[in-house]
Amino acid sequence: MAKSVFFFGDGHAEGDPKRRDLLGGKGAGLAEMTSLALPVPPGFTISTEVCNAFSRAGKIPEEVRGEVEASLGRLEKAMSARFGDPNAPLLVSVRSGGRASMPGMMDTILNLGLNDAVAEGLARRTSSPRFAFDAYRRFIAMHSSIALGLSKEPFDRALDEARARVATARGIDRTRLNAEELKRKVPDADIPAEELEALVGTFKAIVKKETGRDFPGDAREQLWQAIEAVFKSWNNHRAIVYRKMHDIPDDWGTACNVQAMVFGNLGDTSATGVAFTRDPSTGEKTLFGEWLPNAQGEDVVAGIRTPLPIRSHGRVIGKADESLETKMPEAYRELDRIATTLEKHFRDMQDLEFTIQSGKLYMLQCRGAKRAARAAVRVAVDMAREGLVSKEEAVLRVDPGGVDQLLHPTLDPRAPKKLLARGLSASPGAASGHIVFSADEAERRAGQGKPVVLVRVETSPEDIHGMKAARGILTARGGMTSHAAVVARGMGKPCVAGVSAVAVNYETQTMTITVYDDAGHPTENVTLKKGDVITIDGGSGHVYEGAVPTVSAALSGEFGELMAWADAARTMKVRANADTPLDARTARAFGAEGIGLCRTEHMFFDEERIQAMREMILADDARGRTAALAKLLPFQREDFIGIFREMRGLPVTIRLLDPPLHEFLPTEPRQLEQLSRSMNVPVQKLAQRTKDLHEFNPMLGHRGVRLAVTYPEIYAMQVRAILEAAVQVNAEGANVVPEIMIPLAITRAELARTRAIVDQVAREVLDEAGKPVPFTFGTMIELPRAAILAGELAEEAQFFSFGTNDMTQATMGLSRDDAGKFLPAYVESGILPRDPFVSLDQEGVGALVEMAATRGRKARPTLKLGICGEHGGDPASIGFFHRVGLDYVSCSPFRVPVARLAAAQSSLRSRGQNGGHGTA
Ligand code: PEP
Ligand code: MG
Repeated sequence: MAKSVFFFGDGHAEGDPKRRDLLGGKGAGLAEMTSLALPVPPGFTISTEVCNAFSRAGKIPEEVRGEVEASLGRLEKAMSARFGDPNAPLLVSVRSGGRASMPGMMDTILNLGLNDAVAEGLARRTSSPRFAFDAYRRFIAMHSSIALGLSKEPFDRALDEARARVATARGIDRTRLNAEELKRKVPDADIPAEELEALVGTFKAIVKKETGRDFPGDAREQLWQAIEAVFKSWNNHRAIVYRKMHDIPDDWGTACNVQAMVFGNLGDTSATGVAFTRDPSTGEKTLFGEWLPNAQGEDVVAGIRTPLPIRSHGRVIGKADESLETKMPEAYRELDRIATTLEKHFRDMQDLEFTIQSGKLYMLQCRGAKRAARAAVRVAVDMAREGLVSKEEAVLRVDPGGVDQLLHPTLDPRAPKKLLARGLSASPGAASGHIVFSADEAERRAGQGKPVVLVRVETSPEDIHGMKAARGILTARGGMTSHAAVVARGMGKPCVAGVSAVAVNYETQTMTITVYDDAGHPTENVTLKKGDVITIDGGSGHVYEGAVPTVSAALSGEFGELMAWADAARTMKVRANADTPLDARTARAFGAEGIGLCRTEHMFFDEERIQAMREMILADDARGRTAALAKLLPFQREDFIGIFREMRGLPVTIRLLDPPLHEFLPTEPRQLEQLSRSMNVPVQKLAQRTKDLHEFNPMLGHRGVRLAVTYPEIYAMQVRAILEAAVQVNAEGANVVPEIMIPLAITRAELARTRAIVDQVAREVLDEAGKPVPFTFGTMIELPRAAILAGELAEEAQFFSFGTNDMTQATMGLSRDDAGKFLPAYVESGILPRDPFVSLDQEGVGALVEMAATRGRKARPTLKLGICGEHGGDPASIGFFHRVGLDYVSCSPFRVPVARLAAAQSSLRSRGQNGGHGTA
């Protein structure tokens, strides 16, 4: 094995910070900060490769042990302290840190290296027995649960008993307080040294009882147990779930960082905190974060105590200014300076962890900050304006997948609403839903199709499945960097955190909210129970009673600017799939450059039309069909006029009827009777016709162009409607060139036949209108045979549009309608990397797309190529379509901006690879 342990300290780091794959994000950040001469406690990083070796063999390779020992020696030297030495004790943290950030998903152990003698020594050296025993009891509990696999419960119980004794000694009446309230009355910091020392004894007894062995007193034994535990945590359940959700490969592994401890719990001049170099919700350029005086490690993130703001302008109105800026101005200035240095160095917004030990600031972590989509856009645009990055880099900085969050509705400002409470705007977006108090319940109810809002005192990594299922998340405690806030932002879920006016009672499944008026006076108590509906607004941090209506988002400001840069960079066009004038208008507002797919079948389901449609289907002969179709023609013409008017000047692809006819048939006896009356045909006869039309496999049945082979008059009517509509709107100056598209073709002959229908109608319309109507004729490529014979099809078709939905179904033999039952198992077990109906199967279906594009263009060099399956809105698939040279993608209107951005990124990346202008 190559070198696998990398030391950092005293201004020098062995590891290459660019090797995040090896050092993990945390390890790389520590190496980088050390090299920048920032105050980082020394330590060493054990590489991700060791994690993978450990996962394979179940043990740490022998040579790694030697490297760890050598680095430990260097660490002792750097700290002038020794592992396990009571007179100069070295304590370390042992922390996980993967290549991609997975907040809270893997394990960490703090204060490692303590035993009875070391704790005594530490008490002497710091003159603070309270501190020493506090660290010791924290360590035993953490190590026992993480490395020894014991339940936390008996440790928590023993701590609560100690708390109760303190309360009694203080004369507090505990009888009416639950555990949470007692914790507020007697916080950890109020438990005195003697109690903590006694607690250490109790904790050790718990370990002995549970494991039959003493708690390990040997620092090295502790260290190896902790390292193994960190590596094991790569494969714990929640980490696996998180990786699946975020497409993180299982074989990346985590690194393990062993670092000298610094203490934020050494008294009132010590503190710990988390900061972002910009506001992670809005992107505003201001140091943003939270801190806790006299606290350690994860206290801020865990939401156990509600943390305080870093900047004084972030303080809670009506509360005293307890910001770091005011309380520890020197440390604050130093932090601000370091934040600026790091942003300039990385040219990106950073997420920082720091500890202040007796007034001195130490940096424990820096990494590219997770941010809400809104913030991502603002930060990218601001950084380009500040000259930190180029416009192209700014475009590449924003994850297209997150952008549609910004386009989703927000609360209607004019809607009447009753404000119940205010919390922190932890993750933007609005959500209404039924209240649930547990993650399992959230998953269950959401599975039944109910929108739910998950309400918790605070969330933990065990709640992740419930957070995923819920529309939004509300927590009573915890700050902007609490688990709930960080995870919700990552998922793009609305979240309001730290709503302190909410008291959650899990036992009664209720929450009681103290409602305040604007002056801050309590006015009433509202109690809501499981199933009641609330609305949360993660953008403002407000919580409302009932369901509040929403409005669509605007496309202005920084977002508009970023999209303009994206449009300048992009070569592939973006169209929308739209079937109505309203969809067309939305699509245009989102920047669509045409309609790539207008599905005409949706137009026949209106009350007035379905009747005529049914008459057409059930008619005995062409004459009957033509009569029924004549009733549909004016409706259909109006549809197209409306759409053409919205899309004036832009191309509109209209697909002729596609689905099997039986989809339009009456299903209820009442409908059959009605039809029988209006058609003057006996009910029995209609029922028999309906039966005759039944197909065992309609997806492979009488649909698409096959309908035109048997009933050419259907397409003739549609083509007439299209061309007459074009004549009319072009007379208004709309300049429309309809693109008439045939679905589901597999042969050239089908296209020749339908082309003849189209030409015949075009001649008729020309005769009537007195001038020619421009149009083009093309086909969808949805079936493997069509892709293989694309050269022949291109002789008839002027354009192809890949219908990758049907193409995925037909190529993979997976039913679009039924695969949902078993596909998740394929994805979960890794047989398929992703759902192929969401993200294109590039190797299989994609190969057919590429083949058809090449063969089609060879036969007809001017052939226009597009894609209109769902994949047209998926960023990864868009990258593929760009690479195979399609002219445009077409997707649902709300995804148009996502596609514009993804298409721009594809162009910039390919330019970067071809040595074009500089892109990161
Ligand atoms: C397709 O098959 O990809 C397509 C766009 O058509 P539809 O989804 O209407 O079958
Ligand atoms: Mg299709």
